[in-house]
Amino acid sequence: MSHVLHTSGLSQRSRWAADQAISFLMQQGVENPGCISLAAGLVDEDSLPAEPVRETVVTLLSDSASARSALQYGTTQGRLDLRGSLLDYMAAQEGVPRETLGYDASRMVVTTGSQQLLSLLCETLLDPGDICIVGAPTYFVFLGCLAGVGAEPISVPLDENGMQPELLEQALARLNELGRLPQVKMIYVVSEFDNPSGVSVSLERRKAIVDIANRWSIHNRILILEDAAYRDLRFDGNPLPSLLALDGSKEQVLYTQTFSKTLSPGLRVGFGVLPKDVMKPVLDRKGNEDFGSANFPQAIVTRMLKSGAFQEHVRHVRDSYTRKRDAMLAAAEKYFADIPGVTWRRPSGGLYVWMSLPASIPTGFQSPLFQAAVKQHGVMYVPGELCFAPVQGGRPKNHMRLSYGVQTPEGITDGMWRLSRAVKQVLAG
Ligand code: PMP
Repeated sequence: MSHVLHTSGLSQRSRWAADQAISFLMQQGVENPGCISLAAGLVDEDSLPAEPVRETVVTLLSDSASARSALQYGTTQGRLDLRGSLLDYMAAQEGVPRETLGYDASRMVVTTGSQQLLSLLCETLLDPGDICIVGAPTYFVFLGCLAGVGAEPISVPLDENGMQPELLEQALARLNELGRLPQVKMIYVVSEFDNPSGVSVSLERRKAIVDIANRWSIHNRILILEDAAYRDLRFDGNPLPSLLALDGSKEQVLYTQTFSKTLSPGLRVGFGVLPKDVMKPVLDRKGNEDFGSANFPQAIVTRMLKSGAFQEHVRHVRDSYTRKRDAMLAAAEKYFADIPGVTWRRPSGGLYVWMSLPASIPTGFQSPLFQAAVKQHGVMYVPGELCFAPVQGGRPKNHMRLSYGVQTPEGITDGMWRLSRAVKQVLAG
């Protein structure tokens, strides 16, 4: 195999990064146009902010100085005015004055979506063979990033309150016994309305995870990579402080967030707050990739944050997704409640419902259920298997990630009905 790759001229890295499930899923969507996709993590087309973005762009381009600055190359770290606005935004999210955040614009970086930052951080911090602790389940594209740098994901189970600290501690103790603790570099945590499980990490657990990362930084620093992609999409309950805020001045948390879910993935603006000593190597890598994300979308986001147009849009989007979440839960109740062994979680935000089937029903791409769902019933989901790191004895196969992001409430209800029929068909044998 490696002989073939060498002769074809591909790098080792290309081999690690092979077989991206996300590309396969997108292809399925193209090949089955009549299919209702409960798979796509895309955001709602009708709630894209065409009008506020148009107004912002018109004002931006009407002033020649701001037009020139937006249409020119920017800096590798991102626009300074945006990083300043992001400090205000972070302060509002944490519910504290900006002066007490404990970091300034020098610790913020703007990236092309948060995905770019996740990837840059893996490349900057992980050598082949290094370990990153992840949730079971976790964001499957991040598993691809780890694979892409030859790092090993080791999973710690989640429950309805997020990653379980006792099990995290056990995993670290086991790695220590095996003499592998020095390889543990990162703990990846999707802190709010996780993709795919929908759960958020409770306040006690946030504190416990920060404390564990600290205590187990014996040989080298174990960093927490906090992915807060869905933080602004809270429908119920009170906001929580980030792990970043709880970590205080220890600089042990790498924080990422994005405007893709709240504003527009087409603008693809993400950002991060990084420890000082991680910023420079990340910027060096980003320098190789693009020496700075596109300046124009950054200028748009800056203006929308300053004018309040962003905040207004988020309120609208939140209402729309709350209705869709409710439509999916109502349809789950209506069509799945009578199917023995089927359970699902109620997310308080984000875009996903995690549904579990009886252990005897696999949901993977090649499974009878996936085939029946896509080919006969016209509905698609993300097989849960993709969201688990490889484990001894095989990854759990009986889960599905269902997204209410892209469909209308009617489409969601129809999709759930179709899916329930596919499940019933497979159960009936
Ligand atoms: N993190 C999580 C948990 C996500 O679900 C996504 C998008 N699917 C991202 C990061 C990346 O989003 P973007 O690059 O558009 O910011």
